[in-house]
Amino acid sequence: MKPLGPIPAPYAAQQGELIIAGQRAADLAEAHGTPLFVYDSQAVRARVAALRAALPARVALHYAVKANPFGPLVALMGGLVDGFDIASGGELALLQAQGIDPVRAGFAGPGKRDAELSAAIAAGVTLHCESAREVERALALAQGLDRRPRLAIRVNPDFDLRGSGMKMGGGARPFGVDAERAAPLARQIAQSGAEWRGFHIFAGSQALDAAAVHATQAATLDLAVRLAGEAGVSLPALNLGGGFGIPYFPGDAPLDLAMVGAGLADLLADCPPVLRETRLAVELGRYLVGEAGVYLTRIVERKESRGEVFLVVDGGMHHQLAASGNFGTVVRRNYPLALAGQMGAPVAGAASVVGCLCTPLDRLADRAGLPDGQEGDLVAVFCAGAYGASASPSAFLGHGPAAEILI
Ligand SMILES: *Cc1c(COP(=O)(O)O)cnc(C)c1O
Repeated sequence: MKPLGPIPAPYAAQQGELIIAGQRAADLAEAHGTPLFVYDSQAVRARVAALRAALPARVALHYAVKANPFGPLVALMGGLVDGFDIASGGELALLQAQGIDPVRAGFAGPGKRDAELSAAIAAGVTLHCESAREVERALALAQGLDRRPRLAIRVNPDFDLRGSGMKMGGGARPFGVDAERAAPLARQIAQSGAEWRGFHIFAGSQALDAAAVHATQAATLDLAVRLAGEAGVSLPALNLGGGFGIPYFPGDAPLDLAMVGAGLADLLADCPPVLRETRLAVELGRYLVGEAGVYLTRIVERKESRGEVFLVVDGGMHHQLAASGNFGTVVRRNYPLALAGQMGAPVAGAASVVGCLCTPLDRLADRAGLPDGQEGDLVAVFCAGAYGASASPSAFLGHGPAAEILI
């Protein structure tokens, strides 16, 4: 029997029934059909409040839209966070459709096309330029539009976030301008007549170790100060990255947010003059919304094969790819998952929860200890609020997308 990941704190059970934001999961599934993603706005608000309480007041909170671009959730975020990080023209259009002022957004990501750059410049978005060539293209496009572009440099740091699930900095990367090339480019931007918006330094993702996050923040501040000094430019803004992780797997413990906040306060207590007026921001995706989402899927059939039990559900990896272990994990481990109508019930035996796709990749839980699951029972997959619906191949095998609701 293989262990399951830890069920996140916001979820309660009443008489064995999973409750999401005060509503029975069974009722939600009945009303909206399965498969269904449920996003819990109370959990998101609570997470934002915890961040505000822990982080120094001068540090702005940004939402990385790629974690979950569901419109109503993005609209909710509009009232909760200070800024947005977008990574495509589509995400820019999404903000606009939700009535969020794009001036609050930074646009990072490699391979920005001319049309995307132009739309972002026209909307007043800060471009986090990923190369010298991108700066050149942005300046030329801005001239054509007769606009003053707002330009920052995404730096590929010479360090990475220790213990990070997904490394985005350190060696040779498609992301950002190598740190050793960033200062001359910063000077060039400042002299070009563009509005200079500082640096964006994102060193990795999914860290659960507060000491590692702290070390990265210290290195990030050092690097930004050094680059600004070398370039002889001010630092109007600095995006410190994020990387705050959430527990997905057996044995994972939550990030010690208080320690991260206290550590950052220490770093800022006696910061060099160049940082005194800087608008600092952290950009978070999964930490804000990951644990606030639950994926509900129903057992279509219970079947046995050569002594093993398979609970075949009406959803699968086409909606929740990450739970199948095929989204950036090296070793497949079980996500937190439960039978929504038998919370806390004793384990009846080992069962694998498999999706309805005709591929052996489609496994949501592997030989997990579960209560007795039967046809019609509801399965809840937790930690489904980030990199779920939008990061899964919903067209694969023709089952179509899942429904999504925010409650
Ligand atoms: C993906 C991404 C994020 C969000 O990462 P999480 O692990 O979801 O917090 C933030 N910044 C950048 C630049 C990213 O690419």
